[in-house]
Amino acid sequence: MATEYSVQGIGIGELADRYGTPLYVYDGAELTGRLRALYDALPARLEIFFSLKSNPNIAICAVLHGAGARAEVSSMTELLTALRAGVPPRDIVFLGPGKSRAELDACLEHGIATVIVESFGELELLDELAGARGVRANVALRVNPSFAVKGSGLTMGGKPRQFGIDEEQLLAEPDLGKRLPNVRLHGVQAYMGTRILSEEAVVANTVRILDLAERISTALDFPLEFADVGGGLGVAYFDGEEDLDVEVLTTSLAPVLTAFADAHPHTRIVMELGRYLTATSGVYVTRVRYVKTSMGERFAVSDGGTNHHMAAVGIGSFVKRNFPVRLLNRIDEPATGEWTVTGPLCTPNDTLLKKAALPDLGPGDLLGILRSGAYGPSASPVHFLSHGYPAEVLVHEGRHHIIRDRDTPEDLLRAQHLPN
Ligand SMILES: *Cc1c(COP(=O)(O)O)cnc(C)c1O
Repeated sequence: MATEYSVQGIGIGELADRYGTPLYVYDGAELTGRLRALYDALPARLEIFFSLKSNPNIAICAVLHGAGARAEVSSMTELLTALRAGVPPRDIVFLGPGKSRAELDACLEHGIATVIVESFGELELLDELAGARGVRANVALRVNPSFAVKGSGLTMGGKPRQFGIDEEQLLAEPDLGKRLPNVRLHGVQAYMGTRILSEEAVVANTVRILDLAERISTALDFPLEFADVGGGLGVAYFDGEEDLDVEVLTTSLAPVLTAFADAHPHTRIVMELGRYLTATSGVYVTRVRYVKTSMGERFAVSDGGTNHHMAAVGIGSFVKRNFPVRLLNRIDEPATGEWTVTGPLCTPNDTLLKKAALPDLGPGDLLGILRSGAYGPSASPVHFLSHGYPAEVLVHEGRHHIIRDRDTPEDLLRAQHLPN
C-alpha cells in the first residue's frame, strides 16, 4: 500500500474523508514545539506574544497560550478570541493603526496589558475614553523609527508609514504624557517588517529597537515598563530561501536580551510572532477533481484554490513562486513531470502551483500545500464565488478536532437579504 502523509500518526486520508476537502490541518505539536524551542534558548524574561493576525483561530490561540504565548490582537474579534482562549488580560496587547472607539474602550474595560498607540489622535481619544471610565490607560507608543534595517521583505522604518508615530515627532513632544492626564505612557514598540530570514537582521532590529525604547522613554520621561521589539521572523517557502537557524539566532540574541533585562529589571521584554509560530504547523489539503492538458501544459483542477490560500499566488513577487507541495496519498512516489494546480475559481489567477514537480496525478488524489498555517484562509478572498471558509482541523495530543466548520451555502446566504 502506498504510504500516506500523516499528522501525529493520523492518516491524511482519514481526515479528508471525515471532514471533507478542501481542508486546513494543523499539527499542535509543531505549534508548541516552535514556541518552546525559542523559550528554551532565550532568557526567561522574554515574553512571546502570538500575533493572532497570522492565524486567528481560537484553538490555535489556546494551544499556543497553553505553551506560554501571550496574545497580540488587532481587532475586537481578535481581542475576544484571545480572552476566550484563556489568555489573561495582563498578557494581551492591542495594536493597529485604525482602532475604533469601541475597540479602545474594550481594551480599557478588560484592562489589557497595554494599548499600542499609533497616532496622536488615537492617544487623545484614549485619554478621553479613560477619563470617562475614571481609569488611567497604559500606553506603549508605536514608533516609526528614523532608521531602517535591511534584510526583510517588507522594510519598515526610515520612510513614511501609516503605522506608529515618527520618532522625530515624539522626540519633539517631551511633555506628551503630562498633557494627557488619563494616559500613562509606559512602553515603546516598533516592528521592522515581516518574513525576515536573516539572523543578523533580527538581532540588529532588536538592538536598535531596545535602544530606541530607552531613548524615547528618557526623552519623554516615562518609566519603561514595556519594550516590544516587534518580530517578523520568517519561514522559508520558496526555492532559494532558507529557514532561520534557531541556534544561530538565539545564540546571538540571548546576550542582547540579557544585557537589556539586567539594565531594566522592571521592564517586560516582548517579541511579537505570527508566521514563525503558525506557518509550519499547517497544511492546506485539496482533492484533485479533473486533470487535463492545454497546449502541452498539464493541469490538475482541485477543489480548493486561492480563495483559501491567496499567499500561494506568490508573496511579494511578480514571478510565480511555488509553495512546497506533496502528493499526500502517495508521498513516496517520485515526481515524473510538471503540473499546474488550479482551483475552482473562474479566474486565471486561481493558480496554486505553476509547473510544480509532482508524480502523475488523477482525480481523487490529495494534494498538500505545506507550510500554510499562517495567513491562510483569513488572509484570502474566501467569499469569492461564494465558496466560503474551508474546514479547519487541529491534531493535538494524538487526537483530531474540528476547530472551524466549513461554511455552507446556508451560512453564506443567511447574512444576505432580499429588499422588502
Ligand atoms: C503582522 C504583524 C505582526 C506579525 O507578523 P509576522 O510576520 O506574521 O510575525 C507582528 N506585529 C505587527 C505590528 C504586525 O503588523
